[in-house]
Amino acid sequence: MTATTTVAAYAAPAAKAPLERATVERRAVGEHDVLIDIAFVGICHSDIHQVRAGWGEAIFPMVPGHEIAGVVSAVGPGATRFGVGDRVGVGCMVDTCRECDDCRAGLEQYCAEGPVWTYNSVGRDGQPTLGGYSERIVVDENYVVCIPDGLALDVAAPLLCAGITTYSPLRHWNAGPGKRVAVIGLGGLGHMAVQLAHALGAEVTVLSQSLRKKDDGLRLGADHYCATSDPATFEKAAGRYDLVLNTVSAPLDFAAYLSLLRTDGTMVNLGLPEERVEIALQALSGRRRSLSSSGIGGIAETQEMLDFCAEHRVAAEIETIRADEINEAYERVLRSDVRYRFVIDTATL
Ligand code: NAP
Ligand code: ZN
Ligand code: ZN
Repeated sequence: MTATTTVAAYAAPAAKAPLERATVERRAVGEHDVLIDIAFVGICHSDIHQVRAGWGEAIFPMVPGHEIAGVVSAVGPGATRFGVGDRVGVGCMVDTCRECDDCRAGLEQYCAEGPVWTYNSVGRDGQPTLGGYSERIVVDENYVVCIPDGLALDVAAPLLCAGITTYSPLRHWNAGPGKRVAVIGLGGLGHMAVQLAHALGAEVTVLSQSLRKKDDGLRLGADHYCATSDPATFEKAAGRYDLVLNTVSAPLDFAAYLSLLRTDGTMVNLGLPEERVEIALQALSGRRRSLSSSGIGGIAETQEMLDFCAEHRVAAEIETIRADEINEAYERVLRSDVRYRFVIDTATL
């Protein structure tokens, strides 16, 4: 394809404005590009933070969407990794410098120049990037991954962000047999963290605001399920965990959650609240605890995660929606009323 194409999309015209039907231009398929017909795209809480400009200035109109699953419909002359008809995914980044130490180490998400994000970012061609709430997207093949046959496209889409964002820290901090992992928040990221930590062999506890979703948590693979609204949860579990993954989108009482770590345990913050947070460092020094964070995962690691999910029969639990239900779905995510990822059927765009 040598010309740009106009495709249907859903876009936010301005910060905090509802999303509405729109059209966007996709660039011509370049030498190393693939054109993807998007089938499904997940709604990540990061979409909501950015549509509301909650993380700072943002680029509008914004087409969110970085949990993209679809089928290749054209490839550039120099593209060798994919062919027409391949089932593929695109996550949070669509380009990086490819030369820095992190890019060379497969840690593209930490690229020294900063990745080109799938939307709300500026591409190396100087154009704003537009995400997956759209019919088609053109992406350099090096930032595209293969969706294994065993995974349906709708339940695979959320793996491209929620899956890799939880898989990467679980692997980095060696979640596995003999390790106790706690997951704070049973939402999009949380329900993937529970399934992945369980599949890796760890003992898993969900720390949720209430016991409302207990049956689901246990079915997804949790060994224990506790309500954080109950102060006894913190008394009983003090010093218990090797690893605590925090997936909550709002600030928490860090001292309370850090007290759950054993000596040398680590709390990894995956949630990215819009507000600044404060902690008293004594919560760390008492038992040589670590407080860290982690961003998505590299491209090769994303492929490894997808293969792991296919092998272990792990996928997202989804509620499929029409495009005209996006704004309502955002409200439900904000109320923690999601089981456990909304996925947009792009045929309804
Ligand atoms: P989500 O589906 O809304 O899940 C968050 C869960 O946190 C909720 O379901 C709820 O679970 C709990 N929660 C919400 N508000 C809370 C509060 N005020 N206090 C305590 N618990 C609360 O969101 P998500 O898509 O999983 O994303 C979560 C966060 O991760 C967002 O901030 C997002 O931007 C960030 N994120 C970061 C990365 C990264 O690379 N680091 C990647 C993707 C997303 P319960 O009802 O079970 O308590
Ligand atoms: Zn995301
Ligand atoms: Zn780089």
